[in-house]
Amino acid sequence: MKIAILSRNSSLYSTRRLVEACKARGHEPHVLDALRCYMNITSHRPSIHYKGEQLENYDAVIPRIGASVTFYGTAVLRQFEMMGVYPLNESVAISRARDKLRALQLLARKGIGLPVTGFAHKPDDIEDLITMVGGPPLVIKLLEGTQGIGVVLAETKQAAESVIEAFMGLKTNILVQEFIAEAGGADLRCLVIGEKVVAAMKRQGKEGEFRSNLHRGGTASLVRITPEERSTAVRAARTMGLNVAGVDILRSNHGPVVMEVNSSPGLEGIERASGKDVAGQIVAFIERNGKLGRTRTRGTG
Ligand code: ADP
Ligand code: MG
Repeated sequence: MKIAILSRNSSLYSTRRLVEACKARGHEPHVLDALRCYMNITSHRPSIHYKGEQLENYDAVIPRIGASVTFYGTAVLRQFEMMGVYPLNESVAISRARDKLRALQLLARKGIGLPVTGFAHKPDDIEDLITMVGGPPLVIKLLEGTQGIGVVLAETKQAAESVIEAFMGLKTNILVQEFIAEAGGADLRCLVIGEKVVAAMKRQGKEGEFRSNLHRGGTASLVRITPEERSTAVRAARTMGLNVAGVDILRSNHGPVVMEVNSSPGLEGIERASGKDVAGQIVAFIERNGKLGRTRTRGTG
């Protein structure tokens, strides 16, 4: 198969592994920078141009769209979909997952376990917001944050109020969430492909840190997840409409709760921790499902 990998950087671990896996299974991978793609969106025969040439005869596309280029990246992916090229994850599903508010609302509607969570932009009554989500201790997050930056633990009402006030000054959307203390500074990353969790790891924050992000000094290890955690991860991915997803779960004393569903999960941590060939399994999934014109939402999303 001729497979496009939408990635801005071919030297990234995940991109390299996907290229390797495609080649190892006899396919022809091409790494394309979505921002360099240009297209005539009104043409009757949708096409994409890249460095002066028209992209032709692709069978499948693997989107690895970074958070900062979601808007343009999903537009390029949509154009591939309109050409009938099979997307590993659909543009609509990626947009759903990237919008944290929309994602949590959809997960809640399906009855998937979530930490009690509030959203706000410019609340007039901060005290009421705090009470609404069950009071301190609370985790307060900037919606645009990644790698644990902009995630703060407020242990008292006073602390929560001042953090919310400070975040409000940044004129951004704020998420106020029940603190799952019993998770002990750890979370689970479940890598879902299709209807299966193919690999899972536990990330543990460093001593005295409630955030488990590897970028914040956390460490990853292999973990056995429970059947309930497994089905929660699979249902979360399915709710987003993602074929491949990294589902982040906290172990709370009211069962597994989903924090986030990532549409371009990194492969390095999970392959190292699990020793599994996740990239190979992704390509195998495409072989099974990637028929031309098999895009479910083709042109309608
Ligand atoms: P980011 O997108 O920046 O990684 P997250 O929402 O994933 O932000 O939060 C970073 C880390 O903080 C998580 O991996 C988890 O370990 C911890 N954390 C986040 N929310 C909670 C919560 N409600 N209760 C307990 N720990 C949390
Ligand atoms: Mg995270």
